[in-house]
Amino acid sequence: MERVDYLVIGGGSGGLAAARRAASHGARVALVEAGSLGGTCVNLGCVPKKVMWNAAQVAEACQAAAGYGFDVLVRGHDFGALRQRREAYIARLREVYAKNLERDNVELVIGRGRFTGPREVSVGERAISAAHVLIATGSAASIPDVVGAELGSTSDGFFALEALPKRVLIVGAGYIAVELAGALAGLGSDVTVAMRHERPLRGFDQMLGDALRTCMEQAGIAVLHEVNVVKVESVEHGARVATLSDGYVLPPVDALFWTIGRHANVIDLDLRAASVQCDSTGHVAVDEWQNTSAPGVYAIGDVTGRATLTPVAIAAGRKLSDRLFGGKPDAKLDYEDIPSVVFSHPPIGSVGLSEADARAAHGHDVKVYTTRFSNMFYALSEHKQPTLMKLVTVGSEERVVGVHVIGKGADEMIQGFAVAVKLRATKADFDRTVAVHPTAAEELVTMR
Ligand code: FAD
Ligand code: NDP
Repeated sequence: MERVDYLVIGGGSGGLAAARRAASHGARVALVEAGSLGGTCVNLGCVPKKVMWNAAQVAEACQAAAGYGFDVLVRGHDFGALRQRREAYIARLREVYAKNLERDNVELVIGRGRFTGPREVSVGERAISAAHVLIATGSAASIPDVVGAELGSTSDGFFALEALPKRVLIVGAGYIAVELAGALAGLGSDVTVAMRHERPLRGFDQMLGDALRTCMEQAGIAVLHEVNVVKVESVEHGARVATLSDGYVLPPVDALFWTIGRHANVIDLDLRAASVQCDSTGHVAVDEWQNTSAPGVYAIGDVTGRATLTPVAIAAGRKLSDRLFGGKPDAKLDYEDIPSVVFSHPPIGSVGLSEADARAAHGHDVKVYTTRFSNMFYALSEHKQPTLMKLVTVGSEERVVGVHVIGKGADEMIQGFAVAVKLRATKADFDRTVAVHPTAAEELVTMR
């Protein structure tokens, strides 16, 4: 049996970061990857999604061009060319990842890892044992248990599209539902979103989901709320029709995407062979140090189900490597106040507690500041998108525990404000920060 110091299963955001950091501390590291290096984020997530978001932003800019005096005639859009350039960019990123591993002395083992015992893993014909094993196998899109579910696809299918579907149904209400809806509608698809409750993004401050639903509707997206799709059937010309729980049959669509959440990639791992336990949601159970129930076996990223975002997987992986191999016994990721951006149209930036969560935790000790305006970008155009902002503060010192923004530029705005929240800034600290004018962000330091 071969032996290494650190065996990392999964070469996605978390696994790559953990492996390289451990190698930088001198550990002998092997990384097992069954699919494409870079994992979900690079191949089927953040990166291709951001390209599609950018494409829809360009389409929106073309619409606004006339207001700024441009005589623009958009004769069409070559979806195939966009896809080809996007995938070429991703292929280049994969090459960079492979080179980085080689340069850092991390051995790449191509194949599917499977536990054969405590800290023992087989990959094809190879058997590898390690002092420490990291599970970083990520997650996969869930598909509901409804008749005809296989006629729909997931976000993976969205990235496989070779042409823009004319009519699309998206089932779900989270990040992926609204991001796919915005990108497809922006590029010209006729989009319907079917959600179980009254608004999308229920995990966020209510102001954001309510405003986004209105913006989606104004952009021509049909938002069917408080509905459940119970059946999908195939009809002529490859179209699909979905039936709702009340028996209503929706008009035919050319593509249907399930965007109802994701589940941990654990099925192939044979976790029992290593005595690694999962929680009630099927994710690998970990403590605050990323330890699993088995000594010497750890898990990070989506497979743990905690704040399933790329920078979280990366940061948790690096901290763990610092703890195990870098002489930093106290290194662990702080999961508080993780900022995130939803690349919807308009985008959303959010960090900290929603107003409802703050009130649940602090009762009447909560004070909220809000503002609503139209970004100056739209001053010269007919079509205007709103910007809404909210600061959630607690205590007599009005410590800012939540910053929530929907509107143009929110995606690039929130990172800096996340630093302020992390540093426990108060409303007075915001107030004594001089505004940058003319921007949308300045409104966050001038709220009354
Ligand atoms: P992954 O990146 O999924 O990597 C896991 C790797 O393990 C995969 O390469 C897989 O092939 C491999 N693997 C699985 N099982 C085995 C096995 N048995 N043996 C060997 N290898 C195995 N996050 C953001 O922060 N910002 C975004 O904008 C964003 N957009 C997203 C858009 C979409 C459509 C999706 C689906 C996700 C998005 N995410 C985004 C989430 C982000 O992609 C994940 O949080 C991140 O990729 C998790 O990293 P990970 O290392 O845990 O898993
Ligand atoms: P989410 O968890 O964001 O949203 C899924 C939503 O779908 C649920 O909240 C629920 O909303 C709804 N839902 C669940 N089950 C069903 C069902 N059976 N029928 C209809 N609707 C259902 O998952 P996503 O798949 O959108 O994304 C997965 C994760 O990936 C995200 O949580 C995020 O961590 C990450 N991600 C991050 C992005 C970013 O950073 N920009 C972009 C994309 C993904 P409700 O309860 O309201 O019905």
